[in-house]
Amino acid sequence: MSTIWHILGAGSLGTLWATRLARAGLPVRLILRDEARLANYQAAKGLTLVEHGVEQTYPVIGETPHGPEPIHRLLVACKAYDAQSAVAQLQHRLMQDAELILLQNGLGSQDAVAAQLPQARCIFASSTEGAFRQADWRVVFAGHGYTWLGDSARPTPPVWLDELQAAGIPHEWSTDILTRLWRKLALNCAINPLTVLYQCRNGELQKHQCEVATLCAELGELLECCGQPAAAQDLQAEVERVIHATAANYSSMYQDVANARRTEISYLLGYACQAATRHQLTLPHLQQLQQRLIDQLVVRRLPRD
Ligand code: NAP
Repeated sequence: MSTIWHILGAGSLGTLWATRLARAGLPVRLILRDEARLANYQAAKGLTLVEHGVEQTYPVIGETPHGPEPIHRLLVACKAYDAQSAVAQLQHRLMQDAELILLQNGLGSQDAVAAQLPQARCIFASSTEGAFRQADWRVVFAGHGYTWLGDSARPTPPVWLDELQAAGIPHEWSTDILTRLWRKLALNCAINPLTVLYQCRNGELQKHQCEVATLCAELGELLECCGQPAAAQDLQAEVERVIHATAANYSSMYQDVANARRTEISYLLGYACQAATRHQLTLPHLQQLQQRLIDQLVVRRLPRD
């Protein structure tokens, strides 16, 4: 009998993983917040994934954090700001040899979870797949992509990568996952906050090329200082390429703000500015960008962290 995939968080990415694993015949359990969410989920009779306009419902078993089963494998699919407290609720069920896969964007939440569970193996992930929630328990697979997984403490890949293969989840084991996460964080810092400040699609940042270039120079300096020179390489060229390739898109931070949802700022620009302070590095434009973004969040009555 294969190990159960416990999935914490039945939002966009949690659903994307749960439905594909279940479709491949693998055992999956969804962990929902509480009895009320569980009752609501059970009334919906499963998770619906919409892919290429075709929808299919998967009756994945749901449970609350107080379920009886021990947990050997946990996919953490919450937002970065929820990850630590959501995992803490499951601490009593996590086995000594538990493996956690952390899907959170940005940096900071992964280390917080790992510090909370020194015995467990925490695998960090960085994904370019895209999905959004159309309604509760109904997710649209919007952008095909790739997920890189890695463990900077232990380079040996886990045995269950075969299961991802069987489930059709495109992935690669990465020996430099931190470099990938830093690079993604830098791209995010150079693009997403400006799309909120200028209220625009990614492509319109082509009109703000100088500002983008200045931010890339500061971010490059930060990456070098944080021991991530590979993540700094040709950063500006990649930022410009992403702005061009995703010109018609609204960034995830823009969408969070537009929908009055909390952003993950503390794990993105906030994390970058904190790292700069720790290294006594003065990055005036990045720090000013953080302040301007916080001011904008406050005006919109959204959390500033
Ligand atoms: P999401 O749609 O908001 O889903 C988060 C889920 O976590 C929600 O269903 C929420 O429950 C659940 N949750 C929060 N606290 C919980 C708790 N204590 N117990 C049980 N469930 C809990 O978020 P997402 O878009 O999947 O993003 C997850 C992470 O992946 C983020 O860091 C994001 O940046 C990253 N990411 C997302 C995408 C994407 O395309 N969506 C792509 C790449 C990376 P409720 O339903 O009850 O609120």
